[in-house]
Amino acid sequence: MIPMKEKVLLGIYEEFEKWAAEDVACKKGCAACCTQNVLMTAVEGDLIHRFIREQGKMEWLAARLQEKAATKRPEMTTNGFAASCFKGEDVEPGSYGSSEPCPFLENNCCAIYEVRPFSCRCFASTETCSPDVPAVIADSYLSASTAVMQIIEHLGQDEYWGNMLDVLLSLCDLPENRKYVQLLPASLSDQARAQIVKALPLPGFLLLEEEMKKVEPLLQAIFAHKVDDKSVEDILNNN
Ligand code: SF4
Ligand code: SF4
Repeated sequence: MIPMKEKVLLGIYEEFEKWAAEDVACKKGCAACCTQNVLMTAVEGDLIHRFIREQGKMEWLAARLQEKAATKRPEMTTNGFAASCFKGEDVEPGSYGSSEPCPFLENNCCAIYEVRPFSCRCFASTETCSPDVPAVIADSYLSASTAVMQIIEHLGQDEYWGNMLDVLLSLCDLPENRKYVQLLPASLSDQARAQIVKALPLPGFLLLEEEMKKVEPLLQAIFAHKVDDKSVEDILNNN
């Protein structure tokens, strides 16, 4: 049975994909953007772990997770940054990242494509980009992506938030993922847990009034999306 939070996440992905259906240069086999620079929540990690268990690929994932590069991880979540902005604090989102290739890339295609996190789903360019040619992304698309990230973080509040590989490693100690105890050095999960932070509730959207007008249809579609006869808005508000 799929847990409620994962059903909500899949609903959010579905509504974003409908909204974002437009011409982009991205196509299968184009993967210069697939680095280890991917952030996500524990809900997105749970969805990936369940997919891996169902596919019987736990050994494969354990090997991929050991390819994690040592990079600087973000200390502030998107909602944490938004909360500080709303309080008028002088904050910077901070720098992080890695140009190391994502370990889930196989022959330039994503091996977990069906369950890839939102950061991967929303990264798209209207012109073919490469490590030397930056992606071209419309402002309204960036605003919408940030707003959806904030909703997903709210969904996963109080749980892990951070680099995709760190979150996946941290989730290896759940009872259903116990097999990783034999497959991974214990120190790897401990190091990963030291580098992630906690997801926070939505303090308000990081959108200017004119951006909100463009993004509103997407937000309305997400909030009205039904999961087991309840709207996503009601589920997010615990009603
Ligand atoms: S964002 Fe750039 S590198 Fe990534 S798939 Fe799209 S065009 Fe290719
Ligand atoms: S998870 Fe898949 S889509 Fe995301 S960076 Fe890795 S290979 Fe690319």
